[in-house]
Amino acid sequence: MRPRPARPRLVLIGTGGTIAATAGDARTLTGYRVTQGIEAMLAAIPGAAEVADIRCEQPFNVDSRELTTARVLRLARAVERHARAADVDGVVVTHGTDSLEETAFFLHLTVRSPKPVVLVGAMRPASALSADGPLNLVNALLAAADPASRGRGVLVAMNDRIVAARHAAKRHTTRVDAFGADGAGVLGAVTDGQVRYVLRPDLPDTAEFSLAGLRALPPVDIVLDYQDAPAHPYAAAIRAGSRGIVVAAMGNGSLSPAAAQGCALAARRGLVCVRASRVPDGLVTDSGASGPLAAHALNPLQARIALRLALARGMDRAGIGDLLRRL
Ligand code: ASP
Repeated sequence: MRPRPARPRLVLIGTGGTIAATAGDARTLTGYRVTQGIEAMLAAIPGAAEVADIRCEQPFNVDSRELTTARVLRLARAVERHARAADVDGVVVTHGTDSLEETAFFLHLTVRSPKPVVLVGAMRPASALSADGPLNLVNALLAAADPASRGRGVLVAMNDRIVAARHAAKRHTTRVDAFGADGAGVLGAVTDGQVRYVLRPDLPDTAEFSLAGLRALPPVDIVLDYQDAPAHPYAAAIRAGSRGIVVAAMGNGSLSPAAAQGCALAARRGLVCVRASRVPDGLVTDSGASGPLAAHALNPLQARIALRLALARGMDRAGIGDLLRRL
């Protein structure tokens, strides 16, 4: 076993989700409410508090469907502040799984620290038979406390796996192995309390975007494309004041006639349009200089987050095109 430093110091930030939820009886797996504060959650898990010196923080305690840009920005600033503090070795964030991948990707783009930042959730409420939250949380704390986690970027620890936030995606509505990365992004595992890595991602030295001065993000919509799709979502996005549209397009980002017309109209009105794919895996390749930009390896949710940050920083179309290719 690798020698551990005397006592790692972690900050545990509770934000809510199923991991903090309880239901009326032990067999209810989906009808639950967020009821547990982070301190109580930690105290209820045998051995969890012994992993490290843990300081708890609770900026909010909600189902992750209720997360807003303001809350995510607040969380990101807190994560960055703690990661920079000399007396903190790592940060763990408990989070609802429904939108966990969005927060994880946002942190991936905005917080770059060699110190581990690990997101964790649960698919079953704390009151359930075989609740997965307690072990997931212990594994996340172990991952954050382990020096081997340094320099691997923002991580997601779920169901014994450690996945790069860049690749984390919820792929099942109810199962405990919901967070697959489908071959990409599984960096390691926690088995019987042992953290073991097999991969180290190739990350830039600094985060792609600084959080400094970022108080809000411009609105960007995602429009799903499909057979015989209508054009009205594009007109509605323009009318609503959106600054960009990400099309969750078919196949390799191919657009229905309405989507192509909608994007052309949006571009004329100054919106930046991006073609991502509704297919879970694979790239969207570049179609050339004109028309919507290709999302390349980003899925629609990730492309939206990247586009909002890019627009907030005043990047032009060419700069955004380069960014999407790089991410
Ligand atoms: N609805 C929950 C949430 O995202 C689901 C979960 O955490 O698993 O907060």
